[in-house]
Parts: sequence; C-alpha cells; structure tokens
Amino acid sequence: SKNRGRNRYSFFTNEMQQLSDRRHRISNDLRIAISNGEFEVFYQPITSMAPTARFKAEALIRWHHPELGPVSPVEFIPIAEETNFISELGDWVFHETLNTIQQIQAKHKLELNISINISPIQFKSKNLLTDWLEQLNKKGLSGKNITVEITEGVLLVNDPLINNQLLQFKNAGISISLDDFGTGYSSLAYLRKLTIDTLKIDKAFIDDIKQNSNELALCKAITVMSKTLDLEVIAEGVETEEQAALLSNLGINYCQGYFYSKPLPLKKFINYLLNHPK
Ligand code: C2E
Ligand code: CA
Ligand code: CA
Ligand code: CA
Repeated sequence: SKNRGRNRYSFFTNEMQQLSDRRHRISNDLRIAISNGEFEVFYQPITSMAPTARFKAEALIRWHHPELGPVSPVEFIPIAEETNFISELGDWVFHETLNTIQQIQAKHKLELNISINISPIQFKSKNLLTDWLEQLNKKGLSGKNITVEITEGVLLVNDPLINNQLLQFKNAGISISLDDFGTGYSSLAYLRKLTIDTLKIDKAFIDDIKQNSNELALCKAITVMSKTLDLEVIAEGVETEEQAALLSNLGINYCQGYFYSKPLPLKKFINYLLNHPK
C-alpha cells in the first residue's frame, strides 16, 4: 500500500506538472495570438420579450490555437488577467466589435447594441474610456451601440476611480450591465448607487426554474425589484421553451441562451439578423 501511495503521489504531481505546463504555454502563446489572427469574436443574440423590440447581442471571444485547438475563454481569460494581457485583448475585442456594428449599419441599415465583457483590470488603464470614445467617433458610432458587462467583483472593491469611470461610460451613453447576477454579494444599495442599467440573472438560477419552484419565485422577485429601480433584466442560459415561457410571463425584458441561438461567427450572426427582423 506504501507503493500504491507513492504511485498516486507521482500521478498527481504529473498531472499538476501538465497543468502548469499548459498554463505557461497559454500565457506565452497569448502574446502572439492577436497578430497571428487566432482570435475570433462570436455574437450571441439577446432576444427581447417585447414583440416589437429588436434583439441585442453579446460579444464572446474564441481562440483557435494552432496546436491546442479551441481554448475556452473560461481557461485563458483568467490567465490573460493575471499577466495584464487582458487590456490588449479587451481593446482588440472592442475594436473587432465596432467593425461588426459599423459593417451591419452600413450594409444592412440596422442599428445594433452589442455587449462587451470587461474585466476589472481593464479599468486600471486610465485612458480606457477616452480611447474607446475616440474609436467610436472615428467609426461614426455612439455610446448607444455599446453595453459593457461587468461582474460584481468590479463593484465590490468600491474604488472611486472605477466608480468614476463607470459614471463616465454612462455619460457617454454606454449602458452598464451587471453580469452573473445572484452568484455574488450585490445588495440593493449597490444597485441604486452604482448606475447599473441592466441585470443579467445567472444561468444557475435559470437552469432549475419550473412552475412553482424557488428559482422562479426568485426570478420574479428580481424582476419586480428591477422595475422599481428602473433596471432592465436579462435571463442568461435559457435552453428550453418552458424556461422561455415562464420567464416571459414574469415580465423579464430579454432572454439569452441556446434556446434562441448559440454564439455565432460573424457571417452566421448576420444571417440570423436578416432572418429575425424583430
Ligand atoms: P459570460 O459572460 O457569463 O458568458 C456567458 C457564457 O455562457 C458564454 O460562454 C456563452 O457561450 C454561454 N452560454 C450562453 N447561452 C448558454 C446556454 O443556453 N447554455 C449554456 N450551457 N451556455 C450558454 P463562453 O463564450 O465560453 O464564455 C465564458 C466566459 O468567458 C464568459 O462568461 C466571460 O466571463 C468570459 N469571456 C468571454 N469573452 C470575453 C471577452 O471578450 N472578454 C472578457 N473579459 N471575458 C470574456
Ligand atoms: Ca457576459
Ligand atoms: Ca454571465
Ligand atoms: Ca459567467
């Protein structure tokens, strides 16, 4: 049994070694992946429950690594954050998304609002907003075309610099969405104070909603509260018709999830757009 213990030990260290090698590899390869053209932005529709309103969309990055194959953002975004590469990557996603909005506007005469995920670290670069506004201007777009998705982590640090930047985003007409709502520690006080426009209810709550479930009651409470605070609500990770029907009955503003569409590469997204005029 001593022997078995040792084998198990070496098995674990081996596995840990492999994980650490992969991390290093990813961390190194990220640096050249932009110029190698290995990233792509996918767009997932965010469908309005009001029959007359147009859908919005969320930009989600994809990495096609030449040897490792597709690497999930769940794996590489935290590494990009640790290595401060996230700012460069975030700027790239922003730039790419603006090109998409501009193209859709010019070719198809459609106004579109696309959400971009931004991580707390990006706020540390002081000229983030100035850069972004300059780019919007150059492309003849406005803040109305963009929503930024932040997580509670951004709010929890309660940093005046960040709060000030959020206010500036808002003054520029850019909407602010609170992602993964319900998984952290947001209080109602935060929501009032922090100039949030939209709450995205985390998929974890949507997964288990059924008639008469606690999750449904919770979604209902969030929706009622949001109306009072004048916030929009988006349900994330809607996968079934039943979920969509229950959520729509609650008066939720938007649903996003595989039931409507997976995140799509640009060409397919444009096809979706042309086939779903509302
Ligand atoms: P998120 O912002 O919470 O994005 C939602 C995730 O849920 C996406 O995963 C999306 O593809 C997935 N999803 C959407 N609908 C469904 C559904 O019905 N069922 C299931 N099972 N999943 C669904 P994805 O694209 O792998 O992204 C994972 C996370 O990576 C994102 O979570 C976000 O935190 C981060 N991320 C992605 N792109 C970016 C980016 O450009 N910048 C930053 N900072 N983070 C990003
Ligand atoms: Ca998001
Ligand atoms: Ca989310
Ligand atoms: Ca998430």
